[in-house]
Amino acid sequence: MLLKHFGSCRYVWNYFLDLRNRKYVETGKGMSYKDMSFELKLLKRTEDHEWLKEVNSQSLQQSLMHLDTAFERFFKHLSRYPNFMKKSNRQSFNVPQHFSVIGNKLYIPKFGDSIRIFRHRDFNGEIRNITISQIPSGKYFVSILVHENDTENERKKITKETAIGIDVGLKNFLTTSDTLKIETPAYLRKSEKRLRKAQKRLSQKKKGSSNRNKQRIRVARIHEHTVNQRDDFLNKLSDVLTRNYDTIAVESLNINGMMKNHHVARSIGDAGWSSFFAMLKTKALQRGKSIVEIGRFDPSSKLCSGCGNIKHDLKLSDRIYHCEVCKLTIDRDVNAAINIRRFALIRSGVPTDGGEFTPVDRSANTISLLKREGVWQVH
Ligand SMILES: [Zn+2]
Repeated sequence: MLLKHFGSCRYVWNYFLDLRNRKYVETGKGMSYKDMSFELKLLKRTEDHEWLKEVNSQSLQQSLMHLDTAFERFFKHLSRYPNFMKKSNRQSFNVPQHFSVIGNKLYIPKFGDSIRIFRHRDFNGEIRNITISQIPSGKYFVSILVHENDTENERKKITKETAIGIDVGLKNFLTTSDTLKIETPAYLRKSEKRLRKAQKRLSQKKKGSSNRNKQRIRVARIHEHTVNQRDDFLNKLSDVLTRNYDTIAVESLNINGMMKNHHVARSIGDAGWSSFFAMLKTKALQRGKSIVEIGRFDPSSKLCSGCGNIKHDLKLSDRIYHCEVCKLTIDRDVNAAINIRRFALIRSGVPTDGGEFTPVDRSANTISLLKREGVWQVH
């Protein structure tokens, strides 16, 4: 039944994506959700599509809804043009209504029996909908969307004493204004290397061969493992930062723009900055902390954090910032992180004085928290 649902939802997505494409070529117009929903009803009545009746009809409707959202996002330039779904990718379907989760059992319409599940955590609040998925390595997941009330904490005041600036980079994953450098963990780099090798081997196998299929599953498993390791690292890091500081200043990154630059694309993808920032924001919101973004064009790298002089001839290869005016010699990324923190404080209306150039040092506490979490690559 699960496979039938995956297959039918994928079919509906692909069928209507194709139909919309063809309609557009013929008439220059798209299709609304209502149009597609009506067409789906007709399609299910045709003889060679009777099998679509075997699955939960609301899950099929959800596929259309997702397709419609994908087009909306495309028109708003938020994402790329919708792709056809492949059987070898992650499979999923959504159940919006008439399901229940009781203990470790899941009940879904059209499924005669309950499905046994492992619950990773308890949840309170109103259950909205569920998504069932199968990742390429073969594992099944159920994610349950729950609406919680009054979980937001009161926002803490932005002060100099509890603010930190972070600079993200390719060499170190991040550098803080209190002079810590956090590297991408060695085990993660190793997994990424293993993944690249396995992917290369996959591309060399003959299409349609059983060896290729075996290798595809191997790649999927390594990929899953690598993503888990990466998310674990990023979760711990964002957890410690949002626990230890009340205000976190970051430079807003143009990740899409940077991804187009192929030289840096791989490392950014690996480092997972965008998921890191998403985690930071979520955790900060839950804890009443603030993330302050400063503009990309603020001169965070070229400005001397000691005297405010701007060094126009700073090169990308200069790892040490040396100021000719006040003779400050400081690590380039630490200098940038201190400036990011300072810009954020000024932006938030916190008075800054001369003493502001010296970062507040909470690094000892940060290190002990990170070590307790098992993140060791801190300098
Ligand atoms: Zn200076």
